[in-house]
Amino acid sequence: MNPSYDFKGQVALVTGAAMGMGLAAAQAFAKSGASVVLADRDGALAAKEAAQIVKDGGVAIGVACDVTDEAQVAAMVDRAVSEYGRLDMAFNNAGIQVPPSDAADEPIENFQRVVAVNQFGVWASMKHELRVMRKQGSGAIVNNSSLGGLVGLPERAAYHGTKHAVLGMTKSAGVEYAPRGIRINAVCPGTIDTPMVQDMLKGQSEAMKEIMKDQSIGRLGRADEVAAAVLWLCSPGASFVVGIGLPVDGGFTAH
Ligand code: NAD
Repeated sequence: MNPSYDFKGQVALVTGAAMGMGLAAAQAFAKSGASVVLADRDGALAAKEAAQIVKDGGVAIGVACDVTDEAQVAAMVDRAVSEYGRLDMAFNNAGIQVPPSDAADEPIENFQRVVAVNQFGVWASMKHELRVMRKQGSGAIVNNSSLGGLVGLPERAAYHGTKHAVLGMTKSAGVEYAPRGIRINAVCPGTIDTPMVQDMLKGQSEAMKEIMKDQSIGRLGRADEVAAAVLWLCSPGASFVVGIGLPVDGGFTAH
C-alpha cells in the first residue's frame, strides 16, 4: 500500500510526462489532489494523457516543451503559473539514453545530444522553476538522476556523466535554496520497466542481463515505485531532506 498525500491547492510540473516515470509521477500527483502540468517534447501525447487524468477526476493540462530549448522551458513554467497561479512541486524527469559506446569511439553527436537533454534540460528547468519558487519562498524540486549518477559502468561514460552532473546541480542548488524554503533532491532509479528500457531490452539484451544481475531484488522496478519516492520527497514527510540522490534501485548500488 502506498502512503497517500494531500496536495490539494498545490501545483506540480513534470517534464518528460508523456510516458514512463514522468507519466506515473504526474498521475500520482493528480491522485493526491495536485493540479498537474504534463510537459513533454511530444506535446500531443502529453495533452492526451492530461485529458485522461481529467477524465479520471484530476486537474491537469498538457504542454509541448523540448527541455533542450531554454525559451520553451521558460514558456512551460510561465504556462503553469498562468494556468494555476503558482508552482509548488517539480519533477525534472525528461531524459534520454544513447547507445553504449567504447569511450574512445563515442560519436560527438551522441555526447552532445545526451548532455543537451539530461544535463542542460535539468539546469534550465530548475532555473525557471526557482524564479517562481523564490518569489513564493516555498517549493520542492526533484530531479531524475539514475544509478548512473552513483556508479560507473563500461561503455556508459556519456550517459553516466550527465547523471552525475544532475546530482552535482541538485546538491549545489539544494544547499543554496534550503535557507529560502525550497528543497531540492534527486532520485536515482535502477532499471525500471518503461518504454526507454523496453527499447534497450530489444537492442542490447546481453548488456541488460548484466545490469539485472546487480539488481538484487531480482526484477525490474516499476514506474509507480519511483513516483512514490518522488511524491515523498515533495511531501512534508521529507521536510528535513535536502540535496540527496535517493537510490530507488532494488539494491543495485548496495553492491
Ligand atoms: P521514457 O523514454 O520511457 O520517457 C521519457 C519521456 O521524456 C518521453 O515521454 C519523451 O518524449 C520525453 N522526452 C525525451 N526528450 C525530451 C526533451 N528533450 N524534452 C522534453 N521531453 C523529452 O524514459 P523513462 O525510462 O521514463 O526515463 C525517465 C527519466 O529517468 C530519464 O531522465 C532517464 O534517464 C531516467 N532513468 C531511467 C531509468 C530506466 O531504467 N528506465 C533508470 C534510471 C534513470
